[in-house]
Amino acid sequence: MTSVCANYPFDTILIANRGEIAVRIIKTLRKLGLRSAIVYHEIDAGTPAVAMADTAIAIDGRTPIAAYLDITQIIAAAHKANAGAVHPGYGFLSENAAFAKSVVAAALTFIGPAPESIELMGDKIRARNFVQRNGFPVVPSAIEEDDPATFLYRARAMGAPLLVKTSGGGGGKGMQIVSDLGRLEDAIAQAHSEGQRYFGDGRLYVERYIENPRHIEVQVLGDCFGNVVHLFERECSVQRRFQKIIEEAPSPALSPEMRKRICEAAVGIALAGRYRNAGTVEFIFDGAQFYFLEMNTRLQVEHPVTEMITGIDLVAEQIRLAAGHALGFTQPDVVPNGHAIEARLYAEAPKRGYAPTTGKATVLEYPGGNGVRIDSGILRGQQITTAFDPMLAKIIVHSSTRLEAALKAYRAMRELVLLGCETNASFLMRILAGEAFLSGDIHTGYLEQNPHLAAGDADLSSFLATAALLTREIRESADAVPELHAAVGSWRN
Ligand code: ADP
Ligand code: ADP
Ligand code: MG
Repeated sequence: MTSVCANYPFDTILIANRGEIAVRIIKTLRKLGLRSAIVYHEIDAGTPAVAMADTAIAIDGRTPIAAYLDITQIIAAAHKANAGAVHPGYGFLSENAAFAKSVVAAALTFIGPAPESIELMGDKIRARNFVQRNGFPVVPSAIEEDDPATFLYRARAMGAPLLVKTSGGGGGKGMQIVSDLGRLEDAIAQAHSEGQRYFGDGRLYVERYIENPRHIEVQVLGDCFGNVVHLFERECSVQRRFQKIIEEAPSPALSPEMRKRICEAAVGIALAGRYRNAGTVEFIFDGAQFYFLEMNTRLQVEHPVTEMITGIDLVAEQIRLAAGHALGFTQPDVVPNGHAIEARLYAEAPKRGYAPTTGKATVLEYPGGNGVRIDSGILRGQQITTAFDPMLAKIIVHSSTRLEAALKAYRAMRELVLLGCETNASFLMRILAGEAFLSGDIHTGYLEQNPHLAAGDADLSSFLATAALLTREIRESADAVPELHAAVGSWRN
C-alpha cells in the first residue's frame, strides 16, 4: 500500500531525535531512497542512530536533553545538512508548536500536522472543550479557568475519586488521584506548582477518576485534501504510573460494534480539527462507554503494533502526507490481520519503585524469527545513562491469534539477553505470563493492584500451565481428565 516511488520535494530529512525512534525513522528513509541527517549530543556519539545516519551533526546544551530541545541549533543543522524536511519523532520537540512554526519559517517541511493542530491538541483543556463542542464524549470535569471563584466547589460537587490534571501534562506526569476530598485543596496547590515547573503552564482541571478503565487509542491519518482514515485501535492498559509498558492491537475488549463506534469517533475528531498527518486519539473505556482523553499530534511509541496488523509503514505515510500527497488508500483498504503485542524494555528496577538503572550493555542478544520485530536504540558495549528516558528497546511480535502472540512475546523476552544493566525484562515476562493478561482481563490499575508482579520472580511453569489451559483443546481434555491439570502443573523447565 505504501508508495515507494512517490516524488518528494526533498531528498534529505533531518531527524530531531535520538535512540530507537531515530533508528526506526532512518530505516524507512533508506527504504524510500531518502537521505537521513541527525543531530546528536556527544553523549550519544556511539549510538546506532548516529552510526546509521548519512550525516550526523553535533549539538550541545546545558544538559543532553537541552541540546535536543534547542530549536536554533536544530534548524541550523538542517540547513547545514541540506535537509528539506524535519522529522521530530516523539517526545522532545514533537509536540511543540513553536518548533513546527520555526521549521516552516525556515522553508523546511515539518513531518507532522499543522502548528495550529499541535496548539489545539497540546493544550488539554482546549482540546477537551473542542471535542465536547463537536459532540464527542469527554470525562465529566471541572475546569478552573471557566470560573476560578467556584472551581473548588464545582470540583467537590463531582464527588471522589477525582483526578487533578494539568493542561500541559504529558508522559503520565502532572496527574494526581484524590480519593479523599479533604486532600483536594492540597492536590490542586501542588498541581499548580508542578504544572508551572514542568510544563510552564499552571492551568488545571479536575476529572472524574474512572476506576479500572482500559486505555484504548485510535491511530488516524489525514491528508491535506480533507481525507481521514483510521488504522484501528491499540490497547495500552498495562501501565505503571500512568505510563504504558505493554501495548497491543487489536484490543481484546471491544465488540465489533464498539470498535466501529470508537474508530469513527476518532475519525470525527480528526475531521473536525482538519487534522493532517499521523495522530492518535486516546480514550478511556469503562466497559460500556468511552471518553476522549487527549490527542497526540505525533508518531506514538507503540505505533509498531498498528504497522504489524495493517502492513502500513506509518513513517512512510507521515512523509508522503507531509509532502502534500493524498492518502493512497481508503478506509475499506485497511484490513487488520492477526494480533500484535509490544513490550517496552526499560533500564529500571521495578522492585525498587521503577528506579532508573545504569550500566554498560556488555552482552546484548535480541530475539528474532518470524513475526518478531526489535526497535532498539542501543548497541553492545554502549553505556546506559540516566540522561534520557529509560526506554532501551521495544520487542514487538505478530501472530495470528492473541494467545499465540502472547506466547511469542514471552518466548522473545526469554531469548533476550542484556548483561551489564538491570532492566524490567523479567517483570515484563511475569506480566505476559499472568492469567489476567493471557485472558485479556486487564485495566490501567492492574499493576498497582498486583505489586507482587514488580517484586517477584518469573514462574515459567505456572505460565505454561495457564497458557495451556486457555487453549480450548487442552482445556477440554483437561476438564475430561482431571489428572492432566496436575500433570501440567508439575511441568518444570
Ligand atoms: P506515547 O503516548 O507515545 O505512548 P508517552 O506519552 O509515554 O508515549 O511519551 C512519549 C515519549 O515522550 C516518551 O519517551 C516520554 O518520556 C516523552 N515525553 C512525554 N511527555 C514529555 C514531556 N512533557 N517532556 C519531555 N518528554 C516527554
Ligand atoms: P498523558 O498526557 O500523560 O498521556 P493522558 O490524559 O493521556 O495523559 O492520561 C494518561 C493515563 O492516565 C491514561 O492512559 C489513564 O491510564 C490515566 N487516566 C487519565 N485520565 C483518567 C481518568 N479520568 N480516569 C482514570 N484514569 C485516567
Ligand atoms: Mg496520553
